[in-house]
Amino acid sequence: MASGMFCKTLVSEANRDTIMPIHEKSLIRPENIVAHEQLEIDGIDVSGHWSTFIESRVITDYNEEMEEEVAALPGGEAIHRCWQCGSCTNSCTINAINPEFNPRYWIYLTRMGLESELLRDKEFIWQCVSCNKCTYACPRDVNPEGVMKALSHWLELKGHTEKSPSMHFDEEFAEQVFATGRIEEGRIIRGFFKRTGQALMQDWLVEFVKRLLRHLPVKLLFMMGLANILRPRTRGWGGASAAIQDYVAERKAADRRALHLDESAPAE
Ligand code: SF4
Ligand code: SF4
Repeated sequence: MASGMFCKTLVSEANRDTIMPIHEKSLIRPENIVAHEQLEIDGIDVSGHWSTFIESRVITDYNEEMEEEVAALPGGEAIHRCWQCGSCTNSCTINAINPEFNPRYWIYLTRMGLESELLRDKEFIWQCVSCNKCTYACPRDVNPEGVMKALSHWLELKGHTEKSPSMHFDEEFAEQVFATGRIEEGRIIRGFFKRTGQALMQDWLVEFVKRLLRHLPVKLLFMMGLANILRPRTRGWGGASAAIQDYVAERKAADRRALHLDESAPAE
């Protein structure tokens, strides 16, 4: 049934692009927009786009634990503070190239428990690049970047998505730190490509390396190459590495318990 709301702003595909606010225009799903081909109201012909309506919806599948679960994951703790100003979305690096990437909206869906709606965007929530522009723009210290990470993690733990490329990268990074106490960028990129089934010789990477060779000092390039071969380790790193790995294991167990995935996981 069409709602009684007469939406004059939705006059045409072209006008939708220019009239609706940039961070909101993707929120009305095309399948929920209907127009009467023949309609007359009080003797006035409002056929076609002049009679555009938004379908009303009845939502019955609220997930009442969703906000609490996301808030229990690292980064999601302050999600309750959001007042929906939209500053995060307006400042977002990814939103600038994909208007459907909308942190404000996803925070709203999470707080409302609208899980099925959130799942429609599940394949690209992980694409947050952690630039933290949203974090600096947020007037309520919500830490939207952290919420995006928590949401991405929540989707994976709940089995809604495969392990994301972002998570593969984090794991490769962490394993290198555990092993050596250092980061070697070339090794991380190789490991990340291997985990995600990508070819090493990609055009953009070849170009990137060429530019590095052209612009970095020879001594620095030599040191980077050497580190890649010898894989240096931080002296006395074993104890610190074990402590960090213990913490990570405890954190993972706590995350699973918070999502009621593994009640038998050891307590923190
Ligand atoms: S940290 Fe993520 S959500 Fe925030 S502005 Fe950057 S890309 Fe967007
Ligand atoms: S900027 Fe902060 S308060 Fe505003 S919508 Fe984003 S998370 Fe919510």
